[in-house]
Amino acid sequence: MIDNRSKYFVFVPFCLLAQAYQAQGIVKYEWKSSIKPFVELLIDNDINIVQMPCAESSFHNHLIRDPMGLKKYDIPEFNIHCETLAEDVFHQIKELIKSNYKIVAILGIEQSPSCCVNYIYTNHGNINRMGIFMEKLYFKIKEYDIPIIGINRRYINKSLKQLEKEIKKVRI
Ligand code: SF4
Repeated sequence: MIDNRSKYFVFVPFCLLAQAYQAQGIVKYEWKSSIKPFVELLIDNDINIVQMPCAESSFHNHLIRDPMGLKKYDIPEFNIHCETLAEDVFHQIKELIKSNYKIVAILGIEQSPSCCVNYIYTNHGNINRMGIFMEKLYFKIKEYDIPIIGINRRYINKSLKQLEKEIKKVRI
């Protein structure tokens, strides 16, 4: 049986493909729907794109919301919500690995209290830590050594290059 599928996967934040899920006033750059350069890179390389759930919009149960800092999100209810979502994503990742597929990378969005990788927005400026959802996912997947790349939407070149490098590694 001929089966021509790609065995490569990148997990992306929900809003990478649908920026309308971002809080109000956050979508300031030239791409109005997806964060296009990442999507184009993944499509051009025949990478399967898996959209991770949007922790914030699913917690509030509606899309239209004001941006909130870490302090407002770092509450037991939101932590429990992120733990459940991270467990679901972890389950998906384990299934893919078991099926001999390759997870090339996981992408996050810098400054998001939920999905950042390196720095997070607080009312007193940025602090270095992962977002609440991303941190929970990170602790679950640690043993698999999957690169996690944070996207700074204002200066995307660095993270775009990081992703290109990870794609090249699996394609050699
Ligand atoms: S919670 Fe994550 S997926 Fe949802 S809008 Fe924020 S960065 Fe995007």
